[in-house]
Amino acid sequence: MANQLFVTSLKAWLHGQVHPSVVQDQSSAYRHMSFIASHTLGAGVAFALMPLGLVWSAMPGLLGAGLLSAIAALFLCGLFVSRTGRLQQGILASSAVLLGLALWGGALLGPLSLLLLLMTPLEAMLTGTRRTVALTFLMTALTVLVSASGVAGGNGVLSVDLSGQAGAVFILALLGYLGSIYLRLELARQAPAEDRDEDGETLALLKTHMTDLITRHDQRGDVVFATDVSDKLLGLVPSSLFGNGFFNAVHVADRPAYLKAVSDAMTAGEAVLVECRMLKHHGDQVRPTYIWTEMRCMSEQGQDAPSVIVATRDISVRKAHEDALVGAKEAANAASVSNMQFLANMSHELRTPLNAVIGFADILKQELFGPLTPPRYKDYATLIHESGEHLLELVNALLDVSRIEAGKFPIVPEPFDATTLVEGSCKLMAPAADDKQINLVMQMEAGLPEMVADPRACKQMVLNLLSNAVKFSPDGAEIRVQTKQIGRFIEISVKDHGPGIAAEDLPKLGQPFFQCDDSYERRQDGSGLGLSVVRGLAELHKGQLEIASTVGIGTTATLRLPVDCSDAEAVIEELQQKAVSLDRHIVSSPRRRAGGQG
Ligand code: ADP
Repeated sequence: MANQLFVTSLKAWLHGQVHPSVVQDQSSAYRHMSFIASHTLGAGVAFALMPLGLVWSAMPGLLGAGLLSAIAALFLCGLFVSRTGRLQQGILASSAVLLGLALWGGALLGPLSLLLLLMTPLEAMLTGTRRTVALTFLMTALTVLVSASGVAGGNGVLSVDLSGQAGAVFILALLGYLGSIYLRLELARQAPAEDRDEDGETLALLKTHMTDLITRHDQRGDVVFATDVSDKLLGLVPSSLFGNGFFNAVHVADRPAYLKAVSDAMTAGEAVLVECRMLKHHGDQVRPTYIWTEMRCMSEQGQDAPSVIVATRDISVRKAHEDALVGAKEAANAASVSNMQFLANMSHELRTPLNAVIGFADILKQELFGPLTPPRYKDYATLIHESGEHLLELVNALLDVSRIEAGKFPIVPEPFDATTLVEGSCKLMAPAADDKQINLVMQMEAGLPEMVADPRACKQMVLNLLSNAVKFSPDGAEIRVQTKQIGRFIEISVKDHGPGIAAEDLPKLGQPFFQCDDSYERRQDGSGLGLSVVRGLAELHKGQLEIASTVGIGTTATLRLPVDCSDAEAVIEELQQKAVSLDRHIVSSPRRRAGGQG
């Protein structure tokens, strides 16, 4: 583990040494990194070992000084590449240093100088361009020739076993062989795609077209592996994500969620999804921006130490759509609230003149100031009075719905007897029921507790349900009104034998102005506001309206209200757990309303 950490930190440090001009190109960045590593770290190690070499081999002072200068020069080559980004010049300079050392100190170094000679083109082959490699071969060959000719004085590099022209020919042959290896490697690299095996082709396809960034995270959450997609996704080379590079790219506010997801995936062993914003770089000229990403974190099986694989993908487009939807919903809600406000104001303004119309029509109808002639005027006055009453009812219902929806309906809870309230409501409906010879049957449970609720609102709810039952029942039918206590609730149900309501209409009941399709019932008067008022008032009491109905059989509307609506918090959960079946629909569920009372 410590080993892995060391390698990761080393890679991150080396990446930091690469010149900014090449950071974006991953393969170039790697070449630079390897050169800088060998020349700075390698020189450092060589420098550290120098004293040992001097002690053990009793190295002459001159050679020691030469070696030190060469090491310093190599270190400078590494620094040069790091600061300027000119790798090829760096390679040539480093080759010149090594060849110079071989030429100058050959006699002292012995066979080691042969190593230096071969090391030079080898190193160029690793990181140089073809031109640089060719130049290095040329420089090495020239060094051999110069050394063989004795121009540089002494035997130089060819001093020990390989002396004279024979040695030079031998070294040149070695160089030639090295060159042929290089050519073979180059040819293999350029081999056509057909020559590659299937796995290689699949891998190449994946590398080109994959849009998910794959990272491997160690136990501490640090990245130890990243795919090239980091360039496309975040504008960063994979190595810059190593260590805590990935973590740093996550938006500060999303970091806790990201860390939790990685740790959950590590411990739970299941894939964990998390959405985070990540910083994306767009080159030097443009400021980085945040993009939305989705990360799928999965623990990796078969690893010695636990690790997590994270697949990160760009979901900015999806997020933009989601934001647009939320915006549209908020706008629609705002429009609905302002509509309701408008309706409330309008209803209020309509009621004043309407009361005058009804009042004066009543005076005319009753002929308080003398008989109306011709008598048809009295009929008209009666019609005006009835229509006015109907209109006032509608306006009142509209006002109630809009106040409930706007959360401005005042609920004033007080104790009252539920039985008395239900009986009173039935009495009020009796004339309408009598008109249709409907039998109103009351079943009141004995010993019902006192209810704490708004009696005016409760009466309105019961009246609305009763009036629907009477309206939709056929002549001579029976309506059963039942009141009982169930736990912490008082249930008031109104059961009729009317046409019933189709299952597909049940979920829509309680929406303002909704009226069922009249294909299975005779058309009745109504505004489609009655149930919506009941639903709203029940919610304000933290109660429920449930409607069970079967077409052709009848309907049962059940009002479920807390015995004490001011202490309803505890019962809300109980209500929400009530089951909903196909022919039964919970029209309202208790919820909080801004500005609502009770
Ligand atoms: P309305 O003023 O139209 O009665 P409501 O909101 O009270 O408005 O009812 C909405 C619709 O639900 C009604 O138009 C009717 O189609 C249906 N409905 C309500 N109660 C009953 C019932 N007891 N029997 C059959 N249909 C009903």
